[in-house]
Amino acid sequence: MTLDFDGLYRFHGHRCPMSTMGARLAGAAMEALGVGKGDQFLIQADYGIRNCALDGIQFVTGCTLGNGNISCSESGRPLLVLGMRDGSRKAVVSVSAAALARLAAHKDTKAGLLKEREVSGLARAKDIDGIIERDFLALVGWVQDVPDGELLEITVFGRER
Ligand SMILES: [Zn+2]
Repeated sequence: MTLDFDGLYRFHGHRCPMSTMGARLAGAAMEALGVGKGDQFLIQADYGIRNCALDGIQFVTGCTLGNGNISCSESGRPLLVLGMRDGSRKAVVSVSAAALARLAAHKDTKAGLLKEREVSGLARAKDIDGIIERDFLALVGWVQDVPDGELLEITVFGRER
């Protein structure tokens, strides 16, 4: 499924890893169920954390707060459950351990750079700002492009359509 990331970032208001992740989780779940955005009233979504990923999921699936077919279970897990409303099938998609490790490593690197920035001179601080920006965009690009198999784990329950 081709994902419209530029459209997503216009909707979401900024470019970020987790809105991108939400779009990737949603795209994989929809492919697994064989549904498109036009099927938004046949499906319902739940995501486990109230964060930017919810906007990626809403944008891609058409399951929105306004449509009343998305919820946030607040389980604390980066897990999307996309199900057919008739209960026939559901796709459970989570962020892979490897991807979570990469996101955590990025956060640690950034924290280290920010700590260094506090005690560095202006020239180095500007360097650090550039590094942080470059790393951020690289991470967003990675979440956009990395194959599904490296980014997520998907299980489908229920009968074939
Ligand atoms: Zn965001």
